[in-house]
Amino acid sequence: MTGHTSETSSGLLHGMLHGMLHDISVVLRPGTPEWPGDTPFDCRWTCRIADGESVNLTAISGSPHVGTHADAPLHVRDGWAASHALPLDAFAGPCQVVDVSGRHGEISLPMLNLPDGEPVARLLLRTGRSIGDGSFPADWPVLTTACVDALLGRGLRLLGVDAPSVDARESKALEVHHRVFAGGAYLLENLDLSAVAPGRYELIALPLRLHGLDAAPVRAALRALSPDATTCATTAAESVATDVVV
Ligand SMILES: [Zn+2]
Repeated sequence: MTGHTSETSSGLLHGMLHGMLHDISVVLRPGTPEWPGDTPFDCRWTCRIADGESVNLTAISGSPHVGTHADAPLHVRDGWAASHALPLDAFAGPCQVVDVSGRHGEISLPMLNLPDGEPVARLLLRTGRSIGDGSFPADWPVLTTACVDALLGRGLRLLGVDAPSVDARESKALEVHHRVFAGGAYLLENLDLSAVAPGRYELIALPLRLHGLDAAPVRAALRALSPDATTCATTAAESVATDVVV
C-alpha cells in the first residue's frame, strides 16, 4: 500500500505542471458521507425538459458540512463570525501539504517535519482518512493543542485536513477548532488529498458567499509552484515586510 501511495503521489506531482489547477474537493452528491446525524446532501429535479418544461431545474438541500467546506467560527461559539465574514485572503495563497497518514492519535509539531523556524501561513494535513474514499472514517489523527499554538505563533492563517474534522471524532470540547479561531486562523475540512504529494503549493479554496451560516461549501484546488518560485517562508516574510512598509 505504501509503495502504491508514493508511486501515485510522485506521478501526480510530476504531472502537476505549473499553472494547472488540481482539484482537491470531494464530489458532492447524494450519498456523499455526512457526519453521522448531520443532514445529508440531497438534490431533486423540479423541472424536466422531458416533461415539457422549457428548462431542466434542480433543487438542493443539506448541511454545509457535507463535502469540502470551511467551518465558520460561529460553528463552535455563539457570537463568533458567520460564513459571510470568512476572509478570502486566508483561503488563497502559498500552502504546505504534509503527509501524516502513517500517524494515529495526536500529532506534535516535530512530527510535521516542518523546516525550522519558517513561517507556515497555510497547512494541509493528509491523514489518509477521508470521506473521499466513499465512507465516513472511524478515526483520524489530530494536532495537539500545543502544536496548534506553535503554528499560530508561526503565522498560521489556515489549517486544512482531508479528514471530516480537525478535532477527534468523539471530541466535544473541539479544542483545535476553538484555538484556531481564537488565534485568527480558519479551517478547511473534507479535502481530497489522496493524489497529492507532500510539498509546497498555491492553494485556492474560496468559501461560497452564504450569509449567516456556520460553514460554507468550498471548491478547493492546488497549483504547483513554478520552479523559480520563492518558498512559502520567503513569501510570508515578504508579506510581513510589505505590511511594515505600508
Ligand atoms: Zn465542519
